[in-house]
Amino acid sequence: MIKVKNLDFTYPKSTTPTLQGLDFEIAKAEIVGFLGPSGAGKSTTQNILIAMLKNYQGNIEIMGKELSTWGKDYYEHIGVSFELPNHFLKLTAKENLQHFSSLYNGKKEDVMDVLSWVDLADHADKKLSDFSKGMKIRLNVARALVHRPKILFLDEPTSGLDPVNAARIKQLVFNLRDNGTTVFLTTHNMTLADQMCDRVAFVTDGRLRAIDKPSNFKKQFGKRLVDIQYLDANNILQIANFSLDDLGKNQDFINLLNSGQYIETIHSEETTLENVFIQITGQNLTSGN
Ligand code: ADP
Repeated sequence: MIKVKNLDFTYPKSTTPTLQGLDFEIAKAEIVGFLGPSGAGKSTTQNILIAMLKNYQGNIEIMGKELSTWGKDYYEHIGVSFELPNHFLKLTAKENLQHFSSLYNGKKEDVMDVLSWVDLADHADKKLSDFSKGMKIRLNVARALVHRPKILFLDEPTSGLDPVNAARIKQLVFNLRDNGTTVFLTTHNMTLADQMCDRVAFVTDGRLRAIDKPSNFKKQFGKRLVDIQYLDANNILQIANFSLDDLGKNQDFINLLNSGQYIETIHSEETTLENVFIQITGQNLTSGN
């Protein structure tokens, strides 16, 4: 759905490039996240992909067509949910969605259905001025979906939501993906990227450092060890490590299990996505500006 080759971008008044040599592809029905600290270039990439920022260098092919050659009809195919909600405060939730829906030509969702997806059906007739911040954020997601977009762009999709509503939005995005929607999301939230993304791109200083499945990153960088804490004959806590490979044939491991020593814990040593990010980029997710 999205093919980006050698993407460079410099803001008009800037002397240094903000994006340098980005290469990536996103398949249909894939959730790909751009993960990186503030200032890494995630929003800039997103704004280029939604055709808000022009004059990029390199190639961006979206749904088989160079982005710069798409006309206004491009917006029929994409849905965009930004972090900061922007609605008509004097209109109700339903009226807001009806208005945005009327701007599109193609097949559209039933506005009440979309409100129910984000658990706002009971508030359909409430004015936006009476909405909480979390409700506005959810309406923002709903607004991005009224015209059945093929590609959905999400910026920090669960930021500002309580855990129940964050889980609801995550599930909604999974359902959309399972029904064929392609999702590009940006976040500096490692847990969110780990939970939501089929593949995640690590971005720092305007460069894409690595892109892979979260599980592959963790497998590649995690130690394949099992860590056992046990009490020895003198009741002193001991720690032993064994390779996970051929564990069932490891006589030291088998002996320890059969030794009658009191086992306190057994854990495999898995790394976190954040640790992998630090190992690959040399930065943590809170660095930057
Ligand atoms: P992120 O979304 O990862 O936090 P951004 O894409 O917003 O990062 O910003 C990347 C870099 O581009 C930052 O150094 C930022 O200061 C700079 N930048 C963002 N917007 C503009 C702009 N309108 N003009 C000039 N520089 C900008």
